[in-house]
Parts: sequence; C-alpha cells; structure tokens
Amino acid sequence: MEYGKLKNYIGGDWVASQSSEIQDVHNPATGEVIAQVPLSTVEEVNQAVTAAKEAFQEWRETPPLVRARYMFRLKELMEENFEDVARTSVKEHGKILDESRGEVRRAIENVEMATGIPFLMMGYNAEDIALGIDEECVLQPVGVFCCVAPFNFPTMVPFWFMPYAIACGNTYIVKPSDLCPISQNRAFEILDEVDFPPGVVNLVNGAKGVVDALLIHPDVAGVSFVGSTPVGKYIYATAAANGKRAQCQAGAKNCLVVMPDAVLDRTLAAILTSAFGNTGQRCLSGALVLAVGEVYEPLKARLAEAASQIKIGDGLDEGVQMGPVVSRKSLDRILGYIEKGLEEGAELILDGRGVQVEGYPNGYFIGSTIFDKVKPDMAIAQDEIFGPVLGIIPVADFEEALSIIEDIPYGNAASLFTASGKWAREFKYRLRCGNLGINIGIAAPIATFPFAGMKDSFFGDLHGQGRDAIQFFTDRKVVITRWF
Ligand code: NAD
Repeated sequence: MEYGKLKNYIGGDWVASQSSEIQDVHNPATGEVIAQVPLSTVEEVNQAVTAAKEAFQEWRETPPLVRARYMFRLKELMEENFEDVARTSVKEHGKILDESRGEVRRAIENVEMATGIPFLMMGYNAEDIALGIDEECVLQPVGVFCCVAPFNFPTMVPFWFMPYAIACGNTYIVKPSDLCPISQNRAFEILDEVDFPPGVVNLVNGAKGVVDALLIHPDVAGVSFVGSTPVGKYIYATAAANGKRAQCQAGAKNCLVVMPDAVLDRTLAAILTSAFGNTGQRCLSGALVLAVGEVYEPLKARLAEAASQIKIGDGLDEGVQMGPVVSRKSLDRILGYIEKGLEEGAELILDGRGVQVEGYPNGYFIGSTIFDKVKPDMAIAQDEIFGPVLGIIPVADFEEALSIIEDIPYGNAASLFTASGKWAREFKYRLRCGNLGINIGIAAPIATFPFAGMKDSFFGDLHGQGRDAIQFFTDRKVVITRWF
C-alpha cells in the first residue's frame, strides 16, 4: 500500500486517528488499494477546532505583510513539489497527468492571489460625515473556518478558500473527500514545511460524521463546501441553523449552444475537452450540446468521429487522453444512466461501454459516449451524470436553446459558440448561470474572479476565490469618531 494509513494534521503535528472506521482508497486505473483513510471521531474534530481556536489570537495579530510571507513560502514549496503533487492526484483520482498539472497550477494561483493580502484587506474611510466626525470601515478576521471538499479536484478545491482564509488572519480545518484524501495529505506535507504556527492549518479526514461535528461546533465560524447539490443544500441549512457562514458550491448540468455561424473546428475541439476532460467529472463539464439549425448534422457526425479517437488508459501513461472514473460505484451509476437514456428513447451514436484497457483489467474505465436525439425532459438531460457522457439536442433556434437551459435546475456554467456579437450579448445578458463561456468550452474563472454559480449550483452569498473570498473570511467593523 503506497501511502499507508493516512493521518490527521492537528496543531502542527501528524496524528493517527483512533477511529475504528477505516475506508480503502483505490487507484481507479488499477483498482488497487493505495491508502486507507480513517473516518475520524468527533473527539478528533473537537481537538482540531481547539487547536485552530488557540492559534487564532496570535495569528490575527500577525501583520498581514508577515502573513503574506507565509504565502510566498507556500507558493515556492508548491512549485518545488509541483510534479509530485500532480502525480499523487492522478493516482487516487484517475485524471491524466496534464489535467492534474492544470489543477495544481490553479491551486498555486490562489496562493499567489492571497500574497496580496496587505492590499486586499484594506478598509476604507470618510472624513466629515458630520461636523468633526469621521467614519471608517475595517476588515477583521473572524475565527475558525473549515472546508468540505469534493473528490474531483482533490488538490485545488481547498485552495479556493484556505489561502484567503489564513491570509486574512483566520485559522483553518480541511476535511478532504474520503474518496480522494491523499492529495490533501500531500498538500499538508507542504503546509507543514512552510512552518505555520501550530493550529493555523489543520486536516481532519472523514466523511459525514466529521462534517456534522464541524457544523454544530460553536467555535467554527463558517464553512466552504464544494460537492453535490443535495449535500450542499444540507450543509447550507445546517450551517445556517447553527449560526455559521456558508458558501456551498454544488452540482451542475452545463449546456454548450452551437450556432450555425460558429467556427466548427475550434468549436469541436472545445466541446471535446469540455465533455470528456477530467473524464466528464468536472462541475464545468459540458453535458449537453444544443445544436442550432443546420449545424446539427455536420456537428454530430464530426463529434462522434473525433470522440471515438480519444485514447483511454492510466492517466500516468504517455499519450493517454482520458483516464478512468473515480470509483466502481461511480462507474455503475454512469452505466445506469446510459441504460436509462436508451430506455427513454435517445439514440446512442458512440457507446463507451465495455472498453478494455490492455494491462488494466480492474480499472474503472468507460469510453467517451454520445447520445443523439436527446429530449429536454429526459433524465439524461436533467440529471448530473458526472461521467464522459454527452447528449445532443437538436434545436430550431437560439430562443429554444435558451429556454431549455433555463428549465434545467442547475446554473453553474453554459457556453455559446458563435461569430455573432448579437447572440453573444443576448447569451451573456439573459442567462441565469454563474460561469459563461463565449467560444470557450470550460468557463473556469481564474483566481482573481469568483468561482460563481446560480440556481441549484450555489447556496450562499459569496463565492470562493478573489475578492468574494476576502469578504467571506472577514468581518466588517465600522468605527465613527468625534474628534472634537
Ligand atoms: P459529494 O457531495 O458526494 O461530497 C462532497 C463532500 O461532502 C465530501 O467531502 C463528502 O465526504 C461530504 N459529504 C458527502 N455526503 C455528506 C453528507 N450526507 N453530509 C455531510 N457531508 C457529506 O460530492 P462529490 O461526489 O465528492 O463531488 C462531485 C460533486 O461536486 C458534483 O456534483 C460536482 O458538480 C460538484 N462540484 C461542484 C463544484 C462547483 O464549484 N460548483 C466544483 C467541483 C465539484
């Protein structure tokens, strides 16, 4: 077992969990057990909160410029360990190495953004709001925050939040996905090397039990959640009931609208990456192509042909373009949706079932799959499948495409492919969707912008990344002074 039994990181020390509940962590390409993750006890969660609480006072008094230096050091060490971090993530998640490198790069960009904390945390003031009276607003850290992370970007997602939280002077607890916990274990080896004061950053492995203990703990100020919509709703409601801040980024079903005037070669490449990149396990993955008018026939034919050429295999192998899905359970769920699509009457024009990868008989592989003649009310058009399954819906015009998107409960991402400024403007202006792409297949905001989301894709007020994160992790205090 390459990584052994994972430990928690509490108060600056690696601590073995005393829990009797332990889960295996698999390499999805081989099916082998590569680690074991403890589902930590409530007592262990409480120890992490105590450590974070005890570290808070001194850390908040540390000047932002000094806190920024820790961020510079963190960036430096992440760069030094870049390749190893990227490979670790492939082994537990299954994505290809290049995708993993992209993920680690995004994590680092958030650390870079947080190095600007001396500026980012500045408040504002106004003189003479009345005779001899001035008013100022200062931003202050709040206390202990935590992150509940999903499996699909196991390195990056906690970095949408943690660098900002601690740069602002808060202390932090990460609860990684129990499916892919090794990447955060690796990240915390780096955080340990940065040598933060004990308790500033903590890692507690586990699942629902750990999350619930965090959500009811009186000393936890807020939670950043990324994961599926039902769990996001639950965490939002539970956090609110316990008086905590919450930002919950949830599930998705993203549409790619292709207008007849789109540049087909570039559109095709963008759709393929969007639908099949990360093996379709991305909250920004394009799941449905809405092909407008005469573009439908040529687009469908070229998509099926190009997608059939995608090379499937172990993400660490040279030349592989798509890795396995994360787990056997996930594979079975995706296969179930393919059956459902067939029962609903959609036409399978590319069937990825039964794909064999030589030398990997136990991997959770499925090839790229495309359904044609999908109807908007089918389950395969409404539910998040979270795998390499793309549906094509022929539509008459732009308005029909827009109304199909509006009827989908999620509002995470949508893309439009067109050469027309008019359609691009309409799309941008009217759609209720957090992340929009115009001639872009994956509308992933960089660290200086919020990772947005609407409808059933987001519960809360402020998103991860950028200025939103600074707002989420600070209190605003207004001071009014009469000087004479
Ligand atoms: P998930 O909801 O199953 O799990 C997410 C986290 O919640 C994990 O840490 C898990 O241990 C915990 N959890 C699971 N069930 C829980 C419960 N009942 N109570 C408390 N905690 C619980 O999600 P996942 O399968 O790990 O990730 C995939 C999902 O994440 C997809 O729906 C995807 O769209 C979404 N996602 C969204 C974004 C975004 O920014 N909107 C980004 C990445 C992933």
